[in-house]
Amino acid sequence: MTVETAQVPAYRTFPVRVARVRRLSESFLRVTFTGPELNAFASNGWDQRIKVLLPLPGRGTVDCPARDDWYGAWRALPPEQRMPIRTYTVRAARPELLEVDVDFVLHGATGPASAWAERAGAGDEVVLVGPNARCAGPTGGFEWHPPVDTSCLLLAGDETAVPAICAIVESLPEGRHARVLLEVPTADDALDVAAPRGGEITWLPRQAAPGVEPAPRGRLLTAAVVAAVRALGDRLSPSPAAELADVDVDSEILWDVPDDTPARGSSGVYAWLAGEAAVVKDLRRHLVRDVGIDRRSVAFMGYWREGRDSD
Ligand SMILES: Cc1cc2nc3c(=O)[nH]c(=O)nc-3n(C[C@H](O)[C@H](O)[C@H](O)COP(=O)(O)OP(=O)(O)OC[C@H]3O[C@@H](n4cnc5c(N)ncnc54)[C@H](O)[C@@H]3O)c2cc1C
Repeated sequence: MTVETAQVPAYRTFPVRVARVRRLSESFLRVTFTGPELNAFASNGWDQRIKVLLPLPGRGTVDCPARDDWYGAWRALPPEQRMPIRTYTVRAARPELLEVDVDFVLHGATGPASAWAERAGAGDEVVLVGPNARCAGPTGGFEWHPPVDTSCLLLAGDETAVPAICAIVESLPEGRHARVLLEVPTADDALDVAAPRGGEITWLPRQAAPGVEPAPRGRLLTAAVVAAVRALGDRLSPSPAAELADVDVDSEILWDVPDDTPARGSSGVYAWLAGEAAVVKDLRRHLVRDVGIDRRSVAFMGYWREGRDSD
């Protein structure tokens, strides 16, 4: 007789509602979600990603598929019943209190997620798709796994990567050398995050002061990455510059994360880059092609694309 054990999915849906919202700064809103099933929410920490399924006007969350194959079921729905899906980062998870925090960038009512966040209030319902504590195997969904022997960590990103980078930085062991560069819309968006000993965080506001013309997106971040890598000087032992396959950020997803095996001929630097896809692509090209950092030591993720929605 064969006994079939049900496969417990690594990710599952969690119906939740807003417990509270807190405006962190001009561009960041922290939404704390709560739900009776969040005791089964497994956060791996680091840059843990989740999906947020947003309510449909007039229908709310009634159409959200509850079964394990939620995505197949969602795709099988008529388009007008498919709740918009967006990817976010777990800023903090407290399953014992049935709570998950997500920090939303408010970029106007141009997208369903940002528009929803701008109006969010206690009691509003959404569905999260997140890691399942009942799954015996790894639940994954995070990309932070630098080789242990890396001597220097470089984390760079825009405002959409701030929640991930802050969560990573707060979990780094003391004494780990980390250079952190964060480009944000305004000076008010420099959040309070504690850098570990050995870490240095630089906030790069595109708009330095009210009324001042903002710098173009990516310019400050790119300049800061170039300067940070130059400052590494002797700590960097470059590999021969590598050719990189071009990625069309308008039609492909920009995403490549090396595993945690130290790259052969590793330069001692591990870079984690996330944000607007074209900016991230240029940063990666600089590190790998111009500086000679082994491409297997550079994790890069296009979190969003200017002018294109995430559908
Ligand atoms: C792994 C991962 C983790 C992420 N974590 C977070 C997170 O914790 N917090 C967070 O705020 N975002 C995060 N993002 C980015 C977020 O998914 C995108 O910004 C998403 O496009 C927002 O959806 P929307 O419905 O607001 O806009 P969409 O409907 O996707 O886009 C509508 C328009 O808005 C533009 N747009 C999208 N995002 C921005 C922005 N930030 N600034 C200016 N214009 C924008 C698009 O180019 C498009 O023109 C993450 C993305 C990934 C892949």
